[in-house]
Amino acid sequence: MVVQRRNTTQRTEILHVLRGTDEFITAQDLHAALRTGGSGIGLATVYRALQDMAGAGDLDTVRKDSGEVLYRQCADSRHHHHLVCRHCGRTEEVEAPNVEKWARSVAADHGFVDLDHELELFGLCPQCADERTAARNDAAQPGAAG
Ligand SMILES: [Zn+2]
Ligand SMILES: [Zn+2]
Ligand SMILES: [Zn+2]
Repeated sequence: MVVQRRNTTQRTEILHVLRGTDEFITAQDLHAALRTGGSGIGLATVYRALQDMAGAGDLDTVRKDSGEVLYRQCADSRHHHHLVCRHCGRTEEVEAPNVEKWARSVAADHGFVDLDHELELFGLCPQCADERTAARNDAAQPGAAG
């Protein structure tokens, strides 16, 4: 049996994994998930496909402080922004009408057209914030260490 692995097949595999997650994930995470699912796809192929799809606007990307790029296929194809938990990767899609208004007005002030922008907010989701508070409280207990 001859198995033809064309570009489109690999993209279908990648999109399948992305549709199954609500979080932004790295190319490595995606590659690991594909391998777990029995795919023989290579990491370099995953990187290239993700970059192509992001460039075509099929995927959303965010860049962490470390420079690592995370990918997600968003439910909403319209322009929107993200709140991303830097600890667990949980993502909320948010609209920012004030930001859009400000962007248009500041561009108009300077005569800029064909405007584009990206804005992602990184923080701790309520669950991770709770866990951090709990961990700090434990550490603050005298004699807790040991
Ligand atoms: Zn999104
Ligand atoms: Zn979190
Ligand atoms: Zn915006």
